Amino acid sequence: MFALLRDLRHLRRSLALPPPDRGRSLAVRHVDAGSCNGCEHELTLTASPFCDLARFGLGIVASPRHADVLLVSGAVTRRMREPLLTAYAAMPEPRRVAALGDCALGREVLGMPDDLAGPVEDLLPVDLRIPGCPPPPDAIAEALLGLVDGRQGPTLIR
Ligand code: SF4
Repeated sequence: MFALLRDLRHLRRSLALPPPDRGRSLAVRHVDAGSCNGCEHELTLTASPFCDLARFGLGIVASPRHADVLLVSGAVTRRMREPLLTAYAAMPEPRRVAALGDCALGREVLGMPDDLAGPVEDLLPVDLRIPGCPPPPDAIAEALLGLVDGRQGPTLIR
């Protein structure tokens, strides 16, 4: 396997091909901090062939240790407060936080019962806000791709 990779690298050099572009990738760790699952349904669609974010270098990862972005959906319940902070603490620098949906943005879609710890912004520094109830898959895709490219799309509000 390593010999094959080495031969490919030599072949690329001998043909004077440009090096492979590895700069456009983003590993996303999703945490449902207390949503109704509506946002998760839309997020699932962004990973489907409908948007196929993998072709742009975007992937959902299972561990926060491998993640560039913590994507949080739902208003944070008191029970999810510590797991959310633990996931954030486990992420390597530079790490970013994205709030997915109106609940995560603190727009009180589900009201503010006592067992809610509050919007994501009360607990973590939010870099990307994706509004909507739920946000459509193309809006989620556009916002995340904007984060990859370092540009501010219409759904990116600082
Ligand atoms: S923003 Fe809407 S769809 Fe998303 S978790 Fe809240 S109520 Fe559900």
